[in-house]
Amino acid sequence: MTQVSDRLQNLSESQTIAMAKRSREMQVQGIDVISLSLGEPDFNTPDFIKESAKKAIDDNYSKYTPVPGFLELREAICSKLERDNKLQYNPNQIVVSTGAKQSIANVVLSLVNPGDEVIIPKPYWVSYLEIVKMAEGVPVFIETSIENDFKITAEQLKEVITDKSKLMIYSSPCNPSGSIYSKEELESLSEVIKTKSDLYVISDEIYEHINFTGKHESLAQFPSIYNQVITINGLSKGFAMTGWRLGYIAAPEWIADACDKIQGQFTSATCSITQRAAIDAMLCDPKEMEYMKDAFLERRDFVLNGLSQIEGFKLNKPEGAFYVFPDISGLFGKKYNDDLINTATDLSMFLLNEAHVAVVTGEAFGSPNCIRLSYATSKDLLELAIKRISTAVSKLK
Ligand code: PMP
Ligand code: GLU
Repeated sequence: MTQVSDRLQNLSESQTIAMAKRSREMQVQGIDVISLSLGEPDFNTPDFIKESAKKAIDDNYSKYTPVPGFLELREAICSKLERDNKLQYNPNQIVVSTGAKQSIANVVLSLVNPGDEVIIPKPYWVSYLEIVKMAEGVPVFIETSIENDFKITAEQLKEVITDKSKLMIYSSPCNPSGSIYSKEELESLSEVIKTKSDLYVISDEIYEHINFTGKHESLAQFPSIYNQVITINGLSKGFAMTGWRLGYIAAPEWIADACDKIQGQFTSATCSITQRAAIDAMLCDPKEMEYMKDAFLERRDFVLNGLSQIEGFKLNKPEGAFYVFPDISGLFGKKYNDDLINTATDLSMFLLNEAHVAVVTGEAFGSPNCIRLSYATSKDLLELAIKRISTAVSKLK
């Protein structure tokens, strides 16, 4: 009998990827599904980055690279961190990986011993919990709600810290809620973080460039906790390069060394061609990418306006990323034919089967009252999706 490891049995499939897979399968069967499930920009990678990659192929960048990435790329990342975030790092503090997802996994596996507590504010991005489980860490959640824009307070953080707290993981802009912590809010969290000098924080800033407030704030900017923060970023979202697979950390050198060691055994390094192209992405003026943010902002307003008119949909105003995360608990207890809606997962399945719109259940993000819709798709499709959702929901009595 074949039997996968206990570690794997305890691991859940990524719900974002699972929903995208299900909608692709329905599309193959000829069903016209609109997928608002997977979070990835619908833009093409900018031409100048594609040209760099083509040149890298012609220049024969075809060999293994240094495990943490080419020095020139790590220097470019340091320049970017200085230019955009006023953060000082040297190349020995940077490790480039196969996507931000691997960066997060490297850090968690580097720091977390079995039994260590890992603080995860809800809603969290799907993979945080699973990666922590893989490292046998103990997740400690902090609850939030739509009323406080899904953000935690310093007081809440203080309450959950124990001797066993090792790590905290959060994203700002947040996937899935789109919430953004202001400088003042981060500063008050930093006051709590600094009280435990062996507590580390992964600040996942992968949506940095999709920020409608005008300015991104990094947690590592507060000198008192600089040595406790691991900043995560990458190319996937801001540069429309999800398939190219490049993420990076900026961290205390001993954490970067640990990630380098793990990566040396797991993947060696990310793709040499992607790395060469990333140098130009890091060195370009971020203003060149703003057309994507502008389009996302227009779509956010469009989607907010459309969804807020649907009965049972309660919305916050996301200030970044490209998701809306409505609280749909007002629909619980309603039914249509044999479909009884008792959970966010029930509603997601109902919308998939009845409206042919794929969304992701909030349960995957630790928020069972919500569903997540990605608006990183064309306005025409968004308009159609909203119409279909509205029609389907109006059938629930
Ligand atoms: N963090 C968050 C919050 C994300 O939404 C994602 C999904 N792309 C990642 C990390 C992983 O990004 P990557 O595609 O670079 O692995
Ligand atoms: N981060 C994206 C999402 O949340 C991509 C899917 C994934 O990597 O899990 O949809």
